Amino acid sequence: MSFNIIWLQAGSCGGCTMSALTAEDRGLMAALKAFDVNVLWHPAISEESGEEALDILQSVVNGTQTLDALCVEGSVLRGPGGTGKFQMMSGTDRPYSAWIEDLARHARYVVAVGTCAAFGGIPAASANPTDACGLQYEGAEEGGLLGRDFVSKGGLPVVNISGCAPHPDWISETLSLLATVGLNKDQLDISGRPRFFADHLAHHGCSRNEYYEFKASASQFSFLGCLMENLGCKATQAVGDCNLRSWNGSKGGCPDAGFPCIGCTSAGFENPPAAFQRTAKRAGIPVGLPLDMPKAWFMALAALSKSATPKRVQSNARSDHVVVPPARKRDDE
Ligand code: SF4
Ligand code: SF4
Repeated sequence: MSFNIIWLQAGSCGGCTMSALTAEDRGLMAALKAFDVNVLWHPAISEESGEEALDILQSVVNGTQTLDALCVEGSVLRGPGGTGKFQMMSGTDRPYSAWIEDLARHARYVVAVGTCAAFGGIPAASANPTDACGLQYEGAEEGGLLGRDFVSKGGLPVVNISGCAPHPDWISETLSLLATVGLNKDQLDISGRPRFFADHLAHHGCSRNEYYEFKASASQFSFLGCLMENLGCKATQAVGDCNLRSWNGSKGGCPDAGFPCIGCTSAGFENPPAAFQRTAKRAGIPVGLPLDMPKAWFMALAALSKSATPKRVQSNARSDHVVVPPARKRDDE
């Protein structure tokens, strides 16, 4: 029997759908089909619109159509004044948030696709004029639209495929897992993210790791050095196997592509302590240090690493191409 999903786009830029469409080598629809995942309705992909689309949603609410997974992309806009009227479901007199609540009650699993749906994301930044939140989180705080105690019919809290946008294969793998062997609570991390990607840090597998080891830092974007000390890279604090998997079928994640990791899989990434491409520092020391590493140890190791940095690494870190190649040490050195 098919595993039926409905995908809604709440307060969204559509980027998660754009990312999802490139899933695996074959594209999202073929990837889902291989696991018998059937898209009942997706606003950007499905042919049905207007009354036909509403009939599909209504059939789930009526109980005449089973829904295995409700996927929501984008934050829930609760404003103004808690009415949800900043985003109405076209053709109905009801806010999108009410439809999400109704459908979530009937779904076996509820899946937040992207950081907006998981934690609030960019629409929830700073003043948050639309009162945006995630499905089960408001930033790092549990709650959100469905409440901290929400558990879907399948016994799971909201499954948070965070990322802005999430890696396409995180989406297809999560849905495939739910459709086949299922997921249990132990396979989700403390923030509801599937551990198959959340047990890694975005720093793992970055091609700049040798520069990180020696704290040989880039001072401008074209340089090869590590982006943590000056250019805002938060990959040592952000979960995700982004740099272990390839994106777009070939390369690693953001730092491999020359852009600092902005921690897009984390709650609250939208309000960084400094501009996204600058490292927040106090007394010259980065504020955000690697997860689970005591500050004193980091400082001591960083000082030691810097004093031991090979000339090759130091020079290349400040260049946009390799200027000093690896060379064997002479016997008399
Ligand atoms: S650039 Fe970022 S991800 Fe790469 S080694 Fe440095 S801290 Fe890690
Ligand atoms: S490297 Fe960082 S910013 Fe890029 S996708 Fe991964 S977690 Fe997000």
